[in-house]
Amino acid sequence: MNIILLGPPGAGKGTQAKLIADEFKLVHISTGDIFRAEIKNKTPLGERIKSYMDSGNLVPDSVVLETIRGVIEKTPNTGYLFDGFPRTIAQAEGLSGFVKIDFVVYINLTDNEIIKRLTSRRSCVVCSRNYNIATGPFPRQENRCDVCGGELVLRSDDLEPVIKERLNVYRKNTSPLIEYYKKLLPSGFFEIDGSRKIEEVYRDIKDKLSWKA
Ligand code: AMP
Repeated sequence: MNIILLGPPGAGKGTQAKLIADEFKLVHISTGDIFRAEIKNKTPLGERIKSYMDSGNLVPDSVVLETIRGVIEKTPNTGYLFDGFPRTIAQAEGLSGFVKIDFVVYINLTDNEIIKRLTSRRSCVVCSRNYNIATGPFPRQENRCDVCGGELVLRSDDLEPVIKERLNVYRKNTSPLIEYYKKLLPSGFFEIDGSRKIEEVYRDIKDKLSWKA
């Protein structure tokens, strides 16, 4: 089973992705996490993509697709959960050459809620788990990840001006994927209200996938 998690930044894709991947035994592929690790490790790819990420813009499609191809080659014969990918129609078309998508879960959230959530989000620099100092989940120890003990930081692209640019980019480049996948997978496309508690959103997604899968 191959699933795409679609939705604006801050909708809870990363949080839900970890839960769904565990439940359905899927390989979780987050292009954002992969790129942040490349930047942290100062690799040539990291150097190339840093300016795009810092400004809230998209990494070029060719680079993204090459990265995805590499990950799929390293973990063949499994189901995948794509989180934050594809983000353009060109990426979706490229992906269709590698794997067949069964379900698209679109998590929806308003712009106001997105800005509120992202400015109070704190992310683990080691395992990329997210916490939220306004709404929870709160870390047990201040600034430390409950799971791996890594430091929790405000992501540099979670500053308000960058969030606004990410939202513009989402509206322009990524939101056309909603209609694209609705047409392509009429009975495999689910829209989920992301404004609820993490557990409620998760239960909704799990019910829909369990029923279909
Ligand atoms: P995310 O963690 O998914 O919010 O991604 C953070 C940033 O990484 C984005 O704002 C983009 O700069 C870059 N990025 C992640 N995934 C993609 C993608 N599929 N296509 C282009 N850029 C991406």
